Amino acid sequence: MTQYPAELSALIELLTTLPGIGKRGAERIALAMLKWQPEKLECLAALIGGLPENVTFCPDCGNLASAGSQCPVCLNPGRDRTVICVVEEFTQINAIERSAFYRGLYHVLGGKLSPLSGRHVENLNIELLLQRIDALNAGEIILALSPDVEGQATAAYLGNLLQGRELKVTRLAQGLPAGSDISYADAATIGAALKGRREF
Ligand SMILES: [Zn+2]
Repeated sequence: MTQYPAELSALIELLTTLPGIGKRGAERIALAMLKWQPEKLECLAALIGGLPENVTFCPDCGNLASAGSQCPVCLNPGRDRTVICVVEEFTQINAIERSAFYRGLYHVLGGKLSPLSGRHVENLNIELLLQRIDALNAGEIILALSPDVEGQATAAYLGNLLQGRELKVTRLAQGLPAGSDISYADAATIGAALKGRREF
């Protein structure tokens, strides 16, 4: 990239660290930005620079949210507040939302039980889940955990923990590729797994 001025080379170099952006793609983006109006460039810079301060996690469910606010799902008065879908990471919420099937709330655990990598019950966001179930008087908890050993162990733990409460505990139907992360499943597959969910 010696043909470019150092500032442009540095930008291209940085862009290649983004997921899905190769050297050629980074070059095209940087060259396109050269033609942008200064205001548009400043807007982009401000949005990126403000990410750590402006985008945080929802205090209720753990989804991404604007700083000082609940997430768009919790804020939406049209969502069914008696159903909570439990996921491992916030990235999975977007995948489930894409299926356009689910209308309830979410709860992000922050991982799954994995004794080998040192992730135990106390490392997961379970206490808040129990508080929310009580506060919302939830009628159904959907365990949308990965179809791998750790995900299923986590589902089994939560299933047992919630036993005896007056609510339905369900899990996704089979059909998600074994060992896969829900985040990368396609919308139709997730929709079918949600629709066919069965009682734990
Ligand atoms: Zn939320």
